[in-house]
Amino acid sequence: MKVDYIIVGLGLAGLAFVEKLIQAKKSFIVFEDDSQTSSLVAGGVYNPVILKRFSPVWNAKEQLAIALPFYEHLEKKFNTTLDQKFVIKKAFKSTEDQNNWFAAFDKPTVAPFLEDNLDENTYSGVVGSHYFGNVKEGGRIDTHKLVETYRHYLKKNHWIRFEKFYHKDILFEGNLAIYNNLQASKIVFCEGFGVKQNPYFNHLPLEEVKGEIITIHAPKLEIDFLLKSTLFVLPLGNHRYKVGATFNHKDKTSIPSIEGKEELVEKLKKVITVPYEIIDQSAGIRPAVKDRRPLVGVHDKYPQLAILNGLGTRGVMIAPSMAKELYGLLEEGIDLDPEINCNRFIR
Ligand SMILES: Cc1cc2nc3c(=O)[nH]c(=O)nc-3n(C[C@H](O)[C@H](O)[C@H](O)COP(=O)(O)OP(=O)(O)OC[C@H]3O[C@@H](n4cnc5c(N)ncnc54)[C@H](O)[C@@H]3O)c2cc1C
Repeated sequence: MKVDYIIVGLGLAGLAFVEKLIQAKKSFIVFEDDSQTSSLVAGGVYNPVILKRFSPVWNAKEQLAIALPFYEHLEKKFNTTLDQKFVIKKAFKSTEDQNNWFAAFDKPTVAPFLEDNLDENTYSGVVGSHYFGNVKEGGRIDTHKLVETYRHYLKKNHWIRFEKFYHKDILFEGNLAIYNNLQASKIVFCEGFGVKQNPYFNHLPLEEVKGEIITIHAPKLEIDFLLKSTLFVLPLGNHRYKVGATFNHKDKTSIPSIEGKEELVEKLKKVITVPYEIIDQSAGIRPAVKDRRPLVGVHDKYPQLAILNGLGTRGVMIAPSMAKELYGLLEEGIDLDPEINCNRFIR
């Protein structure tokens, strides 16, 4: 069977690229083996401002201009809601923290996202004697619903195989890559942290940054915004909140841990005072790169092989624009920004 593309991995990266292929009427087969969970467990938050330093997220404006219409298009395609828009309230830890917030109004890439007025803490059950700063244009994509919905849609169309892709079985014939009964012009690897098993791209400096999140039920907590303090508290409705996330650079598993839960419970004591019950816990590995830029491009020896990875902590915002960049390179010969080109790292 001849296809234009084989795609390995159906998380945020894979689905953003597949959507480009569908729009361009290209043929493809996706492989997905459930070995990674990052896109399924992500908080799904998009936030144009790094709230630790009040600095801009890299290319935030440009990324949002592509990402938000992309998710809106998927909402229409699947007749569902994916995008929950809310204000992000940063709880200041100190007067210095608050002063830094006002200093950020001098940064032209940050200022448009900040509201002038501060909020007093009048929220029952929320700790803090300092003020809150409000970030505009933030929100959350329900990535779990998105990935599950998208996989179901691919399955209905016979476009996905739920099996492991074995790199050792790739053969090269002329311009084609052969994989068992499939002949493809290109194979695009969207494997997240799974790329560590990929002999063609495992030289790239992807770091494991395991993240864990708990979901709580807190009947007395009434917030309809994302609260950003030492961790985030994200409203899901019906008094359920996602709380996260941890950053662990040692554990390479996607298994929820007792240590992860204890860390979140300990930190949460400094954020809310009301009773709650933990109703879920999940974990995944963020595909993070040392220089905090994505990994996009083509293998230096085998032009049939391409990669879309390194989305780090911001897959929701970055995936659609990086899929566009890769598609432009592969189908239209448009050069990549050297900053995202995977060949910036030499073997
Ligand atoms: C706890 C946590 C919270 C997060 N919160 C946010 C957030 O609020 N906002 C945000 O933007 N980002 C967040 N992230 C980061 C975000 O999840 C990632 O940037 C994004 O999901 C990465 O997507 P991906 O498609 O590259 O990788 P993945 O989601 O890991 O997808 C890769 C896919 O490839 C499959 N695969 C791998 N190897 C093979 C193989 N050989 N054969 C077949 N299939 C294979 C895997 O099973 C997997 O489904 C969070 C991450 C974690 C862990």
